[in-house]
Amino acid sequence: MSKKTILIAGLGLIGGSLARAIKAGHPEYHIAAYNRSQAPRDFAMQAKLVDEVSDDFEQLAVAADVIILNFPVQLSIKFLETLASLPLKPDVLISDSGSTKQDIINSAEKLFSGQAVRFVGGHPMAGSHKTGVIASDALLFENAYYILTPSLLSKPEDLAELKLILSETHAKFIELSAAEHDAMTAVTSHFPHVVAAALVNNADDFSDKMPFTKNLAAGGFRDMTRIAESSPDMWAEILMSNPDNVVDQIDQFTEKLQVVKGLIQDQQSDAVWQFFDQARKLRAQMP
Ligand code: NAD
Repeated sequence: MSKKTILIAGLGLIGGSLARAIKAGHPEYHIAAYNRSQAPRDFAMQAKLVDEVSDDFEQLAVAADVIILNFPVQLSIKFLETLASLPLKPDVLISDSGSTKQDIINSAEKLFSGQAVRFVGGHPMAGSHKTGVIASDALLFENAYYILTPSLLSKPEDLAELKLILSETHAKFIELSAAEHDAMTAVTSHFPHVVAAALVNNADDFSDKMPFTKNLAAGGFRDMTRIAESSPDMWAEILMSNPDNVVDQIDQFTEKLQVVKGLIQDQQSDAVWQFFDQARKLRAQMP
């Protein structure tokens, strides 16, 4: 029997880290990788992350038993469109690592309806503001949640198969619907990135009037804005792919700010104290 072939499509931070973990856990698999530019391909071969590299996605895809797409979400959807036009192996298992799930699940269900293709969405919830295969790390996902989103094209055993392939990530696998995933990550990740960027831009605007302001931006400001250093390409894409949930968060947050604004204007110090005390207790209880 021939070796199971896993195609890692996109050798960036996430694709490279998944390749490392799969290689470590399953030396019996053949790991192929697609990347459009050569330097990451050369790096991956030299570091023995993978067994084969190519810039010919289609040629690798038709030989694969499992395909994991590691691109920005809209680009992964373009690659799904290419896959839908190819004579793939029957029952090929396709997954992705994108930060939003509803768009890609909808696309997969539409493109592969009635075909012998299995699709399970994936989102390893760990990362870095670094990009590229050079920053990849087999332990990047250790103890992090790895969300799997089933689709009309998957059965429970397909999720089990994917977990086995990814076992050496040592991630905590959980199953959520795409809608649940996108709603929850809007609250805990997508909206906070908007706030962090807005805080930095706000301080910059203010510094026009008082240039020394930036020098005072230490401690709390730095803690709250670390994620403003993340890739604008990636974050613009994520927000465009989860607009309703992020807009809901902006509306709710704006209401909360308006309430606090009113309390401050009315000098309601007890209520302002309650506002901070509630947040302090809730923050301390967070896992
Ligand atoms: P990255 O920038 O390190 O890698 C992106 C990959 O996409 C590279 O292989 C690049 O060559 C490829 N690519 C980009 N444009 C391309 C094009 N036009 N044609 C062909 N290939 C192209 O990014 P990453 O951090 O590995 O992110 C990959 C996915 O994982 C994204 O969907 C991201 O939302 C998701 N994700 C990222 C993080 C994180 O913290 N970085 C965490 C979880 C999930």
